[in-house]
This record gives sequence, C-alpha cells and structure tokens, in this order.
Amino acid sequence: MEETATNEKLNFIIKLKSKSLEVIFDAVPDGLLLVDEKLVVCRVNEAIRKRTGKEYKEIINSSICDALQCRIAATEKGFDDSICGKCILRNNILNVLKTAKAVEELEFESKTLFNCKDNKLWFALTLKPVVVDERKYAVVCLNDISVKKCAEEKVAESMQMKQQFISTVSHELRTPLTAIREGLNIVLEGVAGKLKDKQREFLQLSKRNVDRLSALINDVLDFQKLESGRMTFNFESSNIADTINEAADTMKLIAKKHNIELEVEIESTIGTAIFDHNKMIQVLTNLLSNAIKFTPENGKVQLCARLINDAISITISDNGMGIPKEDLSKIFERFYRVQRPGKEICGTGLGLPIVAQIINRHNGVISVESELNKGTTFIISMPIKGPQDTLDSGRDEILEKTLN
Ligand code: ADP
Repeated sequence: MEETATNEKLNFIIKLKSKSLEVIFDAVPDGLLLVDEKLVVCRVNEAIRKRTGKEYKEIINSSICDALQCRIAATEKGFDDSICGKCILRNNILNVLKTAKAVEELEFESKTLFNCKDNKLWFALTLKPVVVDERKYAVVCLNDISVKKCAEEKVAESMQMKQQFISTVSHELRTPLTAIREGLNIVLEGVAGKLKDKQREFLQLSKRNVDRLSALINDVLDFQKLESGRMTFNFESSNIADTINEAADTMKLIAKKHNIELEVEIESTIGTAIFDHNKMIQVLTNLLSNAIKFTPENGKVQLCARLINDAISITISDNGMGIPKEDLSKIFERFYRVQRPGKEICGTGLGLPIVAQIINRHNGVISVESELNKGTTFIISMPIKGPQDTLDSGRDEILEKTLN
C-alpha cells in the first residue's frame, strides 16, 4: 500500500518536472530541437512549430531535414548526396553526436531551409551533446540572423561604394593637380615672363595650397590602400642605418629652416633587417615632420635607433608642445587632430594612422609618450626578421644574411 503511494508520488513529480521542462523549452525564442543519432527529431519547441506552421505530432519522429522543411528533403529523391553531403547543419550535428564536442554560434547561410527559394537565410547554430538513458542526442539551437546579416551586408556594400567613390575622386583630382603645380612652377621660374613681387607672392601661396591638397589626396589614397590590404610591400634585407640616415638627411633641411636641431644617434650594432625601405622612409619622414611641426623655434628633435633583443627600437622625441593626456589614445585614429589654441597648424590627421598601419604590416608596434608643453616621444619596435608570413621563398636566405 505504502509502496504504491510512493510510486504514484514519484510519477507525479516526474510528470511535473517533464511538463515544466517542456514549458521552458517552449519559452525559448530561438528554435530548439532534440535529435537522436539518426537525426530524428525527439523534441521541438514552439519557435520551430510557429515558423514551420506544423503541429508537434507532425514534426516528432520525422528527420531534422523534414522538420526544418529543407527544400532538398522535400524533393522526390529525399537526399541529394551532392548537396546534403555539404550541408553545414547536418554535418555539424553528426559531428557533435560523434565527438560530443559542442558548437557555439556557428553562422551559416542556407538556401534550402524553411522552403526558401530565391532569398537566402542566415542562421546562428549552437549544438550541445546530451546523453539520456545512455543514448546520445544533440540539442540544436537555431537562431535566424538573416535581418542582422542583411544589414551587415548593406553596411559593407555602402562602405565599399564610399571607398570606391573617394578613391575615384582622389585619382581624378591628382592628375589635374599635378598639371596645376607644373604650370605654377613654370610661371614662378619666370619662364612665362618676369613676375612682380605681389604676383610671385600670390602664386607661391597658390602653390602651397596645391601642395597641401596633393598631400591630402596622397594620404587618403595611401590610407585606403593600407586599410583594404591593397598596398603592396617590398620586404627586403636592407641596412636600417642607411634608411634612417636617408630620411633624417631630408628632414634636416626642413628642421634647419625652422631653427630646430635634428640629432641622429644610431647604435653601431644595428645591422640589416627585413623591411620595406620606401615605407620606412615614409614612416620616419612623417614622424620627424610632425616632431618639427609641433616644436617651436630653437627646439630639438632626436632620433635614436638601437637593437633590443631581436627587435629594432626607434625613438623620435622632441621638446615641443606635447599632446594633452586626453588626446593621447586617439591620435592614431583616422582624421584625428588635436585642437590647439592659436594659429592652426596644417595637417590631415592621416599621418599617424598611416604610420601605424605600416608598422603593423612589419609586425611591429608604435607607442607614444607625451607631456604637454614638455615634448613627445614616439617609440617604434619591430622585429629584425620582418613579418614572417609575407616573406617569399627566398626568405631563409635573406634571414640568414640578416642574422649573421
Ligand atoms: P597631422 O596631419 O595633423 O599631423 P597626424 O596623424 O600625423 O596628423 O597627427 C595627429 C595629431 O597628433 C596632430 O594633429 C598633432 O596634434 C598630434 N601630434 C602628432 N605628432 C606630434 C608631436 N610630435 N608633437 C605634438 N603633437 C603631435
């Protein structure tokens, strides 16, 4: 008597537990299914029932392909090896059942699920292996992310269009600008007749503005190429001291014009490294030009290069106006320029993002330290071996030469 009462109680508790599990299963907004080793559906939640418009009993005991209204499964053949063999959903469920390893938020595109024909659907798939009564099952969680994907695609498309537009406009502007600059140079040289002082003054002003515009266009084009990975790099084993001296020599003339001392110190142990010579010239010229630009007359700019372990360390420091603390983390962002009181110092705000991208392609890092009204130091550190992945077949030979 007592035993029967206990059994009834137990049965009641089990029923209640299973009912509440069902309620929880149904309350989940994502599609949930429980499938066995033969990919037969043993449980299905309301989200899937709503989406397919089918009753519970119509789905239970059917294959997952039928349950999710796969277009291929609905054809007479039922299973098309060439398509079903590549089915991401099917293959992942089978794999989870075999390996008992879960799959988290795997995004995939489907042209066949839920009877879709023309439009494609995107899903995020999560799979968990479970064992009930020593039988293996997979819990399939299917989240329709088509709206999010569609929005992402549109953003990517418009970004590409924007980039294409900027790139086309920049290219189209570059040619006439070169012609204007040439024309101005010819007139300024007096080839077209002697110029009055006032005329020369105006033409020089025009030339400075044309130069600024060309610098901006070149920066925009460079930055776009770097960002999209279209910029080609020519990594070669070269003498780093020669490259540094070449950049510094050009900048010394400009520093002198501004009464700024440019001091260069290169450790003698520094030898060859693998890097792109022209791009490094661009990096150094950019940092030196900034150091000169943001340092008042009679200031000092120092460039030091040394070897620290297997990395080249280059520091470019000045005792100029410095960068406010709150701006330090933003100066490598595109078009970011520090707002300074007084006379505007020209620039595009693209110099440092370009420098950072180039250093990044060399597998290096760039950082900055600064104190307002005291000065700024940019520190570059990059491996002498260069970026390993971009080296070609001659890599070992180059490396050997570099390291010896
Ligand atoms: P810009 O064309 O304005 O020089 P950059 O990207 O090269 O653009 O630099 C971004 C900003 O970082 C500059 O506008 C400037 O305010 C600040 N900056 C860069 N280098 C220095 C420096 N050596 N000293 C002080 N400020 C600097």
